[in-house]
Amino acid sequence: MRLNENGTVRLAGLQSEVFFAVMLLGPVYQKYGLELVITAGTEMYYADGRRIHMIGSKHGTGEAVDLRSRDVPKACWTRFVADCRAALTPEFDFVVEGHHFHLELDVKDTT
Ligand SMILES: [Zn+2]
Repeated sequence: MRLNENGTVRLAGLQSEVFFAVMLLGPVYQKYGLELVITAGTEMYYADGRRIHMIGSKHGTGEAVDLRSRDVPKACWTRFVADCRAALTPEFDFVVEGHHFHLELDVKDTT
């Protein structure tokens, strides 16, 4: 597991639940021979002031990270995503976005 190459990922304020969820995904990436690369953390702005994530995004509150998806072969894409979701608890959303996976803590009311 590692961070992206350009050094933009910020980890300060990341919730421990999200960290743990990333750890749970490690073996899935390993199973497919892939490296888990975190491409976004709690940062909300680029150095030039442009916004990275949508307003209200859980990145800013430390409840989301983005993971690189481009290394996942098309042939096993569906199986890979299913395996990732199965490795997590229902408290997490594993969302396929354009060029990354968005992992988000989204606790559903269970009371
Ligand atoms: Zn995201």
